[in-house]
Amino acid sequence: MNTALSKPAILTISGLTAGYGDVQVLWGIDLVVPQGEIVSIVGPNGAGKTTLLLAISGLVRSRLGSIVFDGEDITAQNPDRIVGKRLIHVPEGRRLFPTLSVRDNLMLGAYSRTDGAAEIARDLDFVFSIFPILAERADQVATTMSGGEQQMCAIGRGIMARPKLLLIDELSLGLAPKAVELLAESLVTINMRGISILLVEQDVMTAFEIASTGYVVESGRVRMSGDTRTLIEDPSVKAAYMGL
Ligand code: ATP
Repeated sequence: MNTALSKPAILTISGLTAGYGDVQVLWGIDLVVPQGEIVSIVGPNGAGKTTLLLAISGLVRSRLGSIVFDGEDITAQNPDRIVGKRLIHVPEGRRLFPTLSVRDNLMLGAYSRTDGAAEIARDLDFVFSIFPILAERADQVATTMSGGEQQMCAIGRGIMARPKLLLIDELSLGLAPKAVELLAESLVTINMRGISILLVEQDVMTAFEIASTGYVVESGRVRMSGDTRTLIEDPSVKAAYMGL
């Protein structure tokens, strides 16, 4: 039994369809992130994983279905309001501000917070504790760092927004195995602080090792979902995504 699924949900997506212009990408997605859990989405290129995260953040308009976050229907809300509810997106490609230092990039994550400088400083300390290299490089222009360090900065910026739920798109894209391992461990530490995580990830082993629940999305539909320990042993998952 997947005990995670008996917990209350921080995010519930029901029958979600979305796309771009005439192109429909998502065809009725149902997905739940239980409170305090890590949930991973895997699937081939073009399956619609990024589109799903964009729809959750309000950056792509949903056509049908609903998205309920922290007890509130956020389906038709604009991205700023969704960020205000502390649903925070770490986008594919990191999107750091190229002229700004690591510290300034991190602090941009906190721009809409109203809980005071002491709390913000506490979270900055937390980011520096999980990613000590960011403290060492605090004054360096963020985009001059390695890909793995930039991903740390992007995740750190997400934490600075004090998320209840962190959406992370392609944690490992273009990174060396060692960096991926470090980042995956950091997500577990972040999750232990009570932050729920919805992760889109190409590396199925990494994705399913750190998550309690997994989803396999293909052609805009959920093909399989459940306990990651079960999914990881599934012959069709092994054959399609692990080359086994
Ligand atoms: P990848 O792993 O390659 O990033 P993905 O599963 O995240 O893939 P999406 O990026 O969501 O998939 O893309 C799903 C489909 O939507 C693809 O066919 C893509 O070409 C299409 N698509 C994505 N962005 C746009 C856009 N802005 N306009 C039109 N079509 C788009």
